[in-house]
Amino acid sequence: MALDEFSLIEKFFTQHQPIRKDVLFGVGDDAALLQPPTDQILAITTDTLVAGVHFSHDADPYDIGYKSLAVNLSDLAAMGAMPTWILLALTLPEVNEPWLKKFSAGFFALIKQYNLQLVGGDTTRGPLSITVQALGFVPHGKALRRDGAKVGDRVYVTGTLGDAGLALQEKNYPELTTDERACLQQRLNRPVPRVEVGIALRDIASSAIDISDGLAADLGHILSASNVGAEICLDKIPLSPNLSKHLSLQDAWQLALSAGDDYELCFTVAPENENKLTQALKKLSCSYHCIGIITAKKGLHLNSQTPFSLQNTGFQHF
Ligand code: ADP
Ligand code: MG
Repeated sequence: MALDEFSLIEKFFTQHQPIRKDVLFGVGDDAALLQPPTDQILAITTDTLVAGVHFSHDADPYDIGYKSLAVNLSDLAAMGAMPTWILLALTLPEVNEPWLKKFSAGFFALIKQYNLQLVGGDTTRGPLSITVQALGFVPHGKALRRDGAKVGDRVYVTGTLGDAGLALQEKNYPELTTDERACLQQRLNRPVPRVEVGIALRDIASSAIDISDGLAADLGHILSASNVGAEICLDKIPLSPNLSKHLSLQDAWQLALSAGDDYELCFTVAPENENKLTQALKKLSCSYHCIGIITAKKGLHLNSQTPFSLQNTGFQHF
């Protein structure tokens, strides 16, 4: 017999999870009761993943569970917030226990890694869709925002860009090895939210954003919110060996700038804070590179040794 709604929630979503002291009441009433610390402000974000739009219908449920939470943690990371509480609104076409078991394993891998608590949600029947809400804390006045970049600040990105974009196009590259394909799929399906980097940047970065729609579009949001421009040196954009080995520079830049789904952070730092940046990120295992500078001249200006013109600037749903 298929599980009813409440047994399903208990079996797959509320057993065996971290219990946080700041959760006065979690799942089981009409709303959760939560105790934020008095000296911090709450950062809240939500993101939806829809089958057929954000992932294919036959995608590995572990990856769907992992990614639906990872993309929300990435948004909190971009604000410099420490994630704490999660809500999950799940729309399922049917009760498929093997599917739910894998989904839940992917979801709870991150819940446990970051000591989060799932404090509520909603479970409905319909076309597969997952909405996660993530809440976190950031001390007063310390949140990283998009509107703080100043002329002369350096522009940085974490990790490497374009891998997730190449994963989506891997069929066009028969020369990719099995290991390289696995590595690219990992980048697409299990993005690492840069939570520790975001927190370390609180007193250092003048602005930050996570790269979900491609560097051009997302850096573009920093530029318009901050009312500035930027000059980016394409030769400095960090590319993984998979991109450098198999793609022309122009194709690699095209992916890095417009493909999205990398979930790295793009941030700006005033020149006087660069030493602090080196000190703060030295302890973390995440690489980062300076790729350009904020300018008074508006717009995004791309410089490179090799001629290049950007074809489109990033994913938009409408
Ligand atoms: P209500 O009808 O009052 O909105 P529900 O019947 O939808 O409440 O949910 C009962 C309880 O289970 C609530 O505490 C809700 O937050 C929680 N819940 C529902 N679905 C999920 C889910 N997928 N994950 C975690 N908690 C859930
Ligand atoms: Mg409900």
